[in-house]
Amino acid sequence: MNVSFRNSFGSLWSRPDPVLAQAGVAGELLVAKIRLCLAAVLLLIPAINTVFFPVEPKESIVGLSLTSATFLLSVIVYLLISREYNPSWLSFASSSFDVSLVSGGLVLFLFMNEPHTAVNSKVVFEGYFLAIGATSLRYDRRVCISAGLLAFGEYLAIVSFAANHWDLNSSIYSPYPYGLFGWSAQISRLIIMLTASALSLALVIRSQRLLQLATSDPLTGLFNRGYVDDRFAVELSRARRYDKPLTIAVIDADRFKSLNDTHGHLAGDLVLRKIGAILRDSFRQSDTAGRYGGEEFVVILPETDIETAQRKLESLQELVANTPIALGARGERVQVTISAGLASFPQDGKDAAELFGLADERMFQAKKEGRNRVIAGPAVVLS
Ligand code: GH3
Ligand code: MG
Ligand code: MG
Repeated sequence: MNVSFRNSFGSLWSRPDPVLAQAGVAGELLVAKIRLCLAAVLLLIPAINTVFFPVEPKESIVGLSLTSATFLLSVIVYLLISREYNPSWLSFASSSFDVSLVSGGLVLFLFMNEPHTAVNSKVVFEGYFLAIGATSLRYDRRVCISAGLLAFGEYLAIVSFAANHWDLNSSIYSPYPYGLFGWSAQISRLIIMLTASALSLALVIRSQRLLQLATSDPLTGLFNRGYVDDRFAVELSRARRYDKPLTIAVIDADRFKSLNDTHGHLAGDLVLRKIGAILRDSFRQSDTAGRYGGEEFVVILPETDIETAQRKLESLQELVANTPIALGARGERVQVTISAGLASFPQDGKDAAELFGLADERMFQAKKEGRNRVIAGPAVVLS
């Protein structure tokens, strides 16, 4: 019981896989834009009040400085994210910021001696739902859970503090423009808040499944062509920005048609699955291995120069060639080989089409030179 609880909580509290993490980066940027727009609108309200409806100077100064600070922070967060500054803690920090901003607004009412507004206001309280809802755009289960619990804890602390320090239902507050205080209503609010977090979490879990289906190849379980192309563009822009090498490998199974003709398509599929499994186990998590179509595979190796990539691909080529693949119960075994071509940024090309084209050309050269080999550059002419 204890172990199964720990296991299910462990799977809820898990970091997103690379596909989800990439979607989360786009989500974080979207949230930053929305936050910036909202902060600009919030900034306008006290500014208009100060100019057109002069109220208590203390209140308007507090309002103006709080909204200005929010606006400034939102601009800073937006600029950082749009410049690809995305450390792993950023989603936690930005979602905690959103939640605490709402709590900050409620605390402000307490400071202004308006506890009824703090505990019964609807508009500010609804801000928690914006903050909690936005966590689903980060595609990280842990962020949904932590932001929900933070909102729960902060709101509970605010309400408890107000209930302990003020006699909220005293007749001196009559006619209670924000309504009477009641714990049952507050508990309902807390339950709805937790339900909203649970919905965000469920949305992230569903999205994970859909994204997995949309980006993977059903036969091998590797990434599909669409994802490989997107990922290559992202990695290439990162390599350019940080001035790092990047290598792409195009891999093709040798004489696959004759394997199909001899052993049948089902056997061919089984061999493709096995090559996919070997590819998956042979590279780092930061590398991207995909099936590009038919019996052709692509691997993207970030921060890897051509020599290192060549060594890796040669050991893969040896491993495939030395792994007999059993074709079912009859115990028949086949041995396949692969040919690969490599191209590296920056020396072989600057854009995706150029690099991919060159790696493909080199793969065909490997075929011409007898197959079961890796070609990483033009033939060296010895004088
Ligand atoms: P080469 O060494 O020059 O690459 O020869 P090849 O026979 O591998 O190349 P060719 O392009 O002539 O044939 C590729 C074959 O791969 C043709 C097709 O039957 C087979 N193939 C493509 N996709 C699949 C698949 O999903 N399953 C199976 N079983 N076979 C496939
Ligand atoms: Mg082939
Ligand atoms: Mg082919």
